Amino acid sequence: MGLKARYFVAGSCTHPEFSVIRGGRWGRRSFPALVALIEHPSQGWVLFDSGYSPAFHALTAQMPWKLYALLTRVSIKPDETVAAQLRRIGIAPEAIRHVVLSHFHADHIGGLADFPQARFSYLSEAYTALKKLGSLRALHAGFLKGLLPPDFEARSLPVEASQLEALPELDGLFRGHDLFGDGSLKLVALPGHAAGHAGLLFDSTLLIADAVWLKRSLDEDRPPNPLARLVMDRSVDFDRTFAGLRRIARQGRLALVPSHCQETLATLPGLERGR
Ligand SMILES: [Zn+2]
Repeated sequence: MGLKARYFVAGSCTHPEFSVIRGGRWGRRSFPALVALIEHPSQGWVLFDSGYSPAFHALTAQMPWKLYALLTRVSIKPDETVAAQLRRIGIAPEAIRHVVLSHFHADHIGGLADFPQARFSYLSEAYTALKKLGSLRALHAGFLKGLLPPDFEARSLPVEASQLEALPELDGLFRGHDLFGDGSLKLVALPGHAAGHAGLLFDSTLLIADAVWLKRSLDEDRPPNPLARLVMDRSVDFDRTFAGLRRIARQGRLALVPSHCQETLATLPGLERGR
C-alpha cells in the first residue's frame, strides 16, 4: 500500500551481550527500545509498541519490583518518551488512534498511558496470560500492570487465536490477522519470547519485536544463550519462530526489524532519537 513509517527510540536498557546472542561478550551493552509510527490513509496514525516511560522507575522503586530494575537497567527521561518526541514533530498524543502491541513487557507498554484516544490491538493470549497473575508471577513474566492506563481493557481490540490465518506473504510459515481488513497491516503471531508475542507486517517490512534481539542472530544462526530460555514463554515455540524467520531473512524480500537492534536501527529511514 506504500505506507509511510517513522521510527523512534524511547529509552534503552542494558544487558550482558551474551544473554541475547550465542557467543556474545560478557560486557553490558545498550539496547534501544524501538517504536514505529505508521501513517494509514484512512485510519490515521498507528503506533507499534510504545517504548519505556519514567513510570518504570517509580513502579520498580520497592522490592520485589526493584529486582526488575536491577536486572534490566533502564534509561528513560521525560523528554525521551515517544509522546514527547511526537509532540516535538507536531503530532499530538491525542491524534494517535491505534497502538499495536507486540507483548506486555515494560519496554513495549511503557508509553501507553500517554495516548488517551488510542485503541489497543494485540494477541488476546498476550494479555489473558498475565492479567490474573499474582504480583510475584507477574514480576517473573516482566509485567508491570501499573504501566497500563486504567481504561486499558475498555479500549482494547484483542485479536483472538480463531482470527489468525496462515499468511501467504510469509510462505504460510506464520499466522496473522489483517487488522483493518484492507491488507495494509497484519498482526503476525511470533510465539516464544512471551505469551502471545506478535510482530507487524506492512509493505515489505516485518517488525519482529523481540523474536530476536539482534538481527545478526538470524543472519549468523546464533540464537540467544540457553540462560535466556529461563525467562522465555515457550522455548519450543521460540525455536520454531527463529527457524521461520531465518527462512524469511534468507529470501531477502522483507526487511526484518527487531525492536532492540542498534545495527538495524542505523539503517531505518526517519529514525528519531530522544534527546
Ligand atoms: Zn523488548
